[in-house]
Amino acid sequence: MHYGYLNGTIAPTDQLTLGITDLGLLRGYGLFDYFLTYNGKPFQWDWYWERFQNSASRMHMRLPIGKDETYAVVMDLVQRSGDPDVALRFVLTGGYSSDSISVESPNLLILTESIHPVPPVQYEQGIKVILDDYVREMAEVKSTNYQRVILMAEAIRAAGAQDLLYHRDGEISELSRSNFFLVKGTRLITPDRHILHGITRRTVMELAQGDFTVEERPVLLSDLETADEAFTTSSTKKVLPITQVGELSIGNGQVGSASRFLLERFDDLVQRW
Ligand SMILES: *Cc1c(COP(=O)(O)O)cnc(C)c1O
Repeated sequence: MHYGYLNGTIAPTDQLTLGITDLGLLRGYGLFDYFLTYNGKPFQWDWYWERFQNSASRMHMRLPIGKDETYAVVMDLVQRSGDPDVALRFVLTGGYSSDSISVESPNLLILTESIHPVPPVQYEQGIKVILDDYVREMAEVKSTNYQRVILMAEAIRAAGAQDLLYHRDGEISELSRSNFFLVKGTRLITPDRHILHGITRRTVMELAQGDFTVEERPVLLSDLETADEAFTTSSTKKVLPITQVGELSIGNGQVGSASRFLLERFDDLVQRW
């Protein structure tokens, strides 16, 4: 069973309730973070916490509790879940507001959830994404607003694709919930702006040291045509190959050796975590 924390109270998730006048509901004002535990330990805790804090600060919301206290709550919830490998979801909403617009005291929710791993066939065959001319507002904030991809769900399904690849003015930024990499020979190229700075992205960039040169720079749509491989990274997807972008096959259209190598490295790291 999963437990959650809401403003100081820990209870089974289905017993936690948030009032209907929260700015998260009334105004769509909220942010979140999401990470996994491996062997009972939060993966890259310092980096996720730093990002959560950064999102809160950019959204002008004060975190009601500090890092150490939050870590203790996380460990308590992980133990109660009875599973050493779970997902943690942090949600910070605008909270209740006397005038329905001013942020007064944000509500903090921390949940454990079951992990929903990517089906193995997607690692073997790679995924298809479709291009979407879109940029997330305040892209460096992990906002709860995923309106775009929910709205596009039907178009994604109709194209036989798994996700969107956002671009604007010829420049690629990210997928709806994960980061983007291209491989050209021994170069890894990843967009550096209009993105959420993924912790998996950061981890993969470290793991690539020594075997690849990593370039953080604008990635153009025209780069897709000359790439050997492409992949996407996120906490859940790890290193997931992209073999098709719209009607364009990437490289030879098969999962490449660089994507496989980096996924193996990533799996080694989490197994030892
Ligand atoms: C969460 C998210 C990512 C991936 O971040 P990780 O820390 O690697 O899980 C990338 N892009 C967007 C838009 C996201 O919301």
